[in-house]
Formats: sequence, structure tokens, C-alpha cells
Amino acid sequence: MPNSQLGKPVYRFAPSPNGFLHLGHALSAFLNHDMAGAARGRLLLRIEDIDLSRCTPEFEQMIYHDLRWLGLDWETPVRRQSEHFDAYRDALDRLREMGLVYPAFLTRGEVKAQVADHEASGTAWPRDPDGSPLYPDTDRERRETERATLIARGVKHAWRLDVGKAMASSGKPLSWQETGSGLSERITAEPAIWGDVVLSRSDAPSSYHLSVVVDDALQGITHVVRGQDLYAATAIHRLLQELLGLPEPAYHHHGLILGHDGRKLSKSEGSTGISALRNEGLRPDDIRRLVGL
Ligand code: GLU
Repeated sequence: MPNSQLGKPVYRFAPSPNGFLHLGHALSAFLNHDMAGAARGRLLLRIEDIDLSRCTPEFEQMIYHDLRWLGLDWETPVRRQSEHFDAYRDALDRLREMGLVYPAFLTRGEVKAQVADHEASGTAWPRDPDGSPLYPDTDRERRETERATLIARGVKHAWRLDVGKAMASSGKPLSWQETGSGLSERITAEPAIWGDVVLSRSDAPSSYHLSVVVDDALQGITHVVRGQDLYAATAIHRLLQELLGLPEPAYHHHGLILGHDGRKLSKSEGSTGISALRNEGLRPDDIRRLVGL
């Protein structure tokens, strides 16, 4: 990096190439671009393609194409997460050495059955902010010898963060700086609401949470601007940053663009796709207006 870039604020837009960009992405990308510009900062693009089963080179090419058409510019080379699994593995190894992660063997079906069993007795199973049931205690409570036997037997497993132990080991209340509401406020982070999150799966060597904090630190990101749907996840990111000794960026979670049904846009929603709108004859300025900028 040239000296002239040192000390500048660094922003990033970090889409996943598992579908077409839609208006929600356009809002995020424009905001990152505008805020970086206003702060005389840098704008990076990061391709979050750790889910090898859903991300494709075609969607990745469409991201570059759509963003260029919108008039955005970014530094190269672009960081592609699929090329850096070893960096995420190193971070996981460090957490493993600290005794803060454990192998999780329960299949989706087994978790579902435990939850259903429990709920049949009339008490609700606790759920995370996205509505998914928290992971049961079973694997956290297994003895080391039993874990070793299961692993030696080749039983598939993920690695999960022991959130309770991790909070205790970080030793202090966590929070983050947030400007999404228009004010600059300190928000209390409550990672325990997510339960023991997955940090790596048997079929994907890293998770979104782990790779995002490793990359934000590695790329020197000072400002994370992204959708409100990731607001609650920031608690986990702050916890991982503390555990791994990584710097804390400032956060700005912007409002979501909702579909006609009032729900968050999905990548399959053709009518709000950037390429579909372009094909209808809309111009980048029209897109800006459509997302309220
Ligand atoms: N890759 C994530 C997404 O496409 C965004 C991650 C982030 O901005 O932290 O939703």
C-alpha cells in the first residue's frame, strides 16, 4: 500500500456471489462508496464465497459487472475468501488452543428432534435472533475421551464456540460503536443470545462470523457499513475480535429495502435484481433514487 493511503479510513462492501445483486446490495454498496468518499477513505470489495456449494464464478462476475455499471470503483486485488481458508483455520486453531471451541456432532435432524421433544412438553426452546433454535448442550458437555473416540471413528463434526466460556474468558462487557440510527451510540453486545455458534463445518472450513472478523482485521477495515439484518450478529463479531486480539471497527447498520410483501429482499427476487432493472432501461441514478439516496 502506498504511504499516501496510510491512516485513511477503510470501508468495504462484502457481497456473497450466491445470487444476483438486488436493491439492498445497491444501497449498501452506494453507502460504502459515499461514506468512504466523504471521509476521504478507501473502498475495498471483498467476495465472501466460503460457501462453495452456493457461490459460483458467474455470480461473482455479475457482481463486478453490476457494481461497475452502478459507477463504483474499488481497489484491486479483490480479496476472495475461498482463497484464504488457511487464515480462518489458523484463527480457529487459536480458539481451539484456548479451549473455547468444541466439536459438535449432532446432525440437523437430531437437533430438530431434541427441540421438538422438549417443545412437546409445552415449554419453548430458546431461539436466536434469526429464529433458529439454540444448539443443545449435549456436545458441549461431552468428555474429551468421548470426543476423541467420535473423531477417531470419523464421525462428521462442526466446531462451535462455547459462548459462555468465551464471554468469561474475554472477561469484560462487550459493546460496539453504532451510527446506523443517525446518532453515534455505544451498543451493548450480547453474544449469548446466539448460543454456541458454528465457526467451521465439516463441509465448509469456515463460517461467516469467523471469516468476516479475520478479514476485517487483516484488511484494516475501520468502518463496517452493512444491512440491519446483520446488526445482532455484531455481538458475535465483537466477541471474536476480543478473543483473537483484533481491532474493533465502527459499525453502521443501514435500513433494509423491503419487497412488496414487507419482507427482506432475497437473491431470487428477480424484479428487484440490478441486472433486471438495467434490462428494463433504468439508469444508475434511477437505482440511487429507488434505494432512497
Ligand atoms: N457477505 C454478507 C452478505 O452478503 C455481508 C457480510 C458483511 O457485510 O459483514 O450478506
